[in-house]
Amino acid sequence: MSTIDLPTPGPRYFRDVSDVPSPLESPQGNVRDTFNRPLRDLRISVTDRCNFRCVYCMPKEIFGRDYVFLPKDDLLSFEEITRLVKIAAAHGVEKIRLTGGEPLLRKDIEQLIEMIAGVKTAEGKDLDIALTTNGSVLARKAQSLKDAGLQRVTVSLDSLDDERFKAMNDVDFPVSRVLDAIDVADDVGLGPIKINTVVKRGENDQDIVDVARYFKDSPFIVRFIEYMDVGTTNGWKMEEVVPSAEVISRIDAEMPLEEVSPNYTGEVSARWRYKDGGGEIGVISSVTQAFCSTCTRVRISTEGKLFTCLFASDGHDLRALMRGGCSDAELETVMAHLWRARTDRYSELRSANTADLPKRDKIEMSYIGG
Ligand code: SAM
Ligand code: SF4
Ligand code: SF4
Repeated sequence: MSTIDLPTPGPRYFRDVSDVPSPLESPQGNVRDTFNRPLRDLRISVTDRCNFRCVYCMPKEIFGRDYVFLPKDDLLSFEEITRLVKIAAAHGVEKIRLTGGEPLLRKDIEQLIEMIAGVKTAEGKDLDIALTTNGSVLARKAQSLKDAGLQRVTVSLDSLDDERFKAMNDVDFPVSRVLDAIDVADDVGLGPIKINTVVKRGENDQDIVDVARYFKDSPFIVRFIEYMDVGTTNGWKMEEVVPSAEVISRIDAEMPLEEVSPNYTGEVSARWRYKDGGGEIGVISSVTQAFCSTCTRVRISTEGKLFTCLFASDGHDLRALMRGGCSDAELETVMAHLWRARTDRYSELRSANTADLPKRDKIEMSYIGG
């Protein structure tokens, strides 16, 4: 086994990658974790800022006027992000999702997309590049995003009722502008577009059937997402989760559905289609039916920490390594090691017994990206 000597680490380095043994094994291409899960998807949060204050993600009481967001220099630069994308691709990543915060608020995001679009998978194919957005500035940016090499967008939309939509984004943003943006994005070829609808009981569960009906017989696929206990600021309660089974039965009662097999192993969304041929919907049951056993996702936070689980309490500081002068080979080795050592299965443990889960800080969704 060949080994790599890392440069003299600074204090941050020691703290953040202390569980990486030294000497390190050299990188070996595709990697699998302790449950034999391959690394396939990379989600990158390009900003911790957002112009919405969704009640389940960035509640105003916490993310108010005096909330301090990361200073510009703390954000990974486009060059740093692209470097990490190349390394992740060498280890098997095929799909990249840009997220945030609101990714379209990151200045010159098109430039980053262009840079990432130049990276190839380990097999020499193009990466699949998607972006999740609240749709607020999508109409204006759709064409330039497409031109830069973005393939698809997912647009979040929690209600068609303007009052409830405004109450959920908590900044009075009208639903009509997001609906218009979805059409523009489709027109420029950023499809097939998926619509993310987070369902929170007492907030928008009365809108489930209306949202499904609106997008039935259209090219858009709605995915109803169970409200998750990400982070610690949203005051999550189990009673506010609407189980996907209930979502399906409410829609099925009005527009009959049948289950469809997944497109590929590890697809997070369970697929259902209308029996009358009106298209399909998805449900993401992160709370009631955990899918950790097929989880192939790694996340990089806005300031360059790598998280192997959405519910992790801390990540590994890749920015410190890059800014400390690590070579690509060293970074590859660290990434491979972190994936190989991965034991995460938070949602499965939560489902097994919520009461026994250790109380700990969890990272916020707006910082790590959905
Ligand atoms: N700002 C963009 C947006 O809203 O699409 C991208 C970032 S947002 C964090 C990514 C996705 O996470 C969105 O679809 C959002 O609805 C979802 N999300 C945020 N908080 C959530 C929670 N507590 N449970 C389930 N989904 C959540
Ligand atoms: Fe912003 Fe997206 Fe979070 Fe809503 S879900 S507050 S749009 S980051
Ligand atoms: Fe993956 Fe962690 Fe979510 Fe399980 S809880 S599916 S391991 S991100």
